[in-house]
Amino acid sequence: VASLPEPISRLVAVLSKLPGVGPRSAERIALHLVQNEEGAVRSLAEAILQARQKISECQTCGSLTEQQPCIFCADPRRDHALICVVERAVDILSLEKAGVFHGVYHVLGGKISPLNGVEPEDLRVTELEKRCVDSAVSELIIALPSDVEGDATSYYLNKLFTNRGVKVTRLAHGLPVGSGLESADELTLSRALEGRRQFSS
Ligand SMILES: [Zn+2]
Repeated sequence: VASLPEPISRLVAVLSKLPGVGPRSAERIALHLVQNEEGAVRSLAEAILQARQKISECQTCGSLTEQQPCIFCADPRRDHALICVVERAVDILSLEKAGVFHGVYHVLGGKISPLNGVEPEDLRVTELEKRCVDSAVSELIIALPSDVEGDATSYYLNKLFTNRGVKVTRLAHGLPVGSGLESADELTLSRALEGRRQFSS
């Protein structure tokens, strides 16, 4: 924005790269920040930095955590033989909010997409294989979005792990097509989980 002082337009540019923040909101936030109390702005900046510094991926499941392993992987009350495979760390939040899953998680970090150059080795598939070797895993529940890439990834994982003697199931349909777990409500999620079934060959 040419009419704004350079430090503000730089802030607008950075803010508008954030997910869900369009150019108009970025401008509004930037103008709010530069007119806010300096202490409040400093707290915000420090909170962002601290969160970034303290949070890492769980080395086992890939969820976002402050401790290694994460609270899910470290929890003896959870069923560690039951692994729910999700695309992104945020999907865990959706399932936890629904409160119907008592196993552990595995974050893939994406979906197989040859068009976008995403191959299985770009995802946390090797880590999942290792988990299935290292501990007694009785079932993998695939909870990926039901879009083309999600389906391709689900079938890939089904084949890979069925061949290794692990039972693989996927959430029952009913999740909104083309979207993630994020947009599914709790009832839909719990029904999808209860109605999970093995892949038809
Ligand atoms: Zn973990």
